[in-house]
Amino acid sequence: MEKNYSIMKIGTLKGDLADKGRIMVGQELGLTGSEISLNYPAVGTFAPFVHSHKLNEEVYIILSGKGMFMVDGEEFLIQEGDIIRVAPGSGRAIKSDDHMSYICIQTQGGSLTQATNDDAELTESKASWMKDL
Ligand code: ZN
Repeated sequence: MEKNYSIMKIGTLKGDLADKGRIMVGQELGLTGSEISLNYPAVGTFAPFVHSHKLNEEVYIILSGKGMFMVDGEEFLIQEGDIIRVAPGSGRAIKSDDHMSYICIQTQGGSLTQATNDDAELTESKASWMKDL
């Protein structure tokens, strides 16, 4: 029977991810509504181009370090704890200046018709740590 979940172990952020620079997780996890990349670019590096997406919005979650971001010609500093959403059609670029790691989540803009509170349902099952409840 096929499992209703998938798990991917990428190792440590500053070890395995830093060695690879970038890990795409969508195909390995079998994602059907998003693409996710984990990124730990070498300090001072950047993709030498600005890109946009036709249909997808991107959310960049900065986990550590700092760097620069550019959207449609506007440049600004980014750092650990910042979350940037970029609309479809907008040109964007990112640069690491100080051991920056980040997650980029790509989903089709306008595709979310509900969110957690409208979609979540409590089920009858319990996890082992809920025995006493
Ligand atoms: Zn992109």
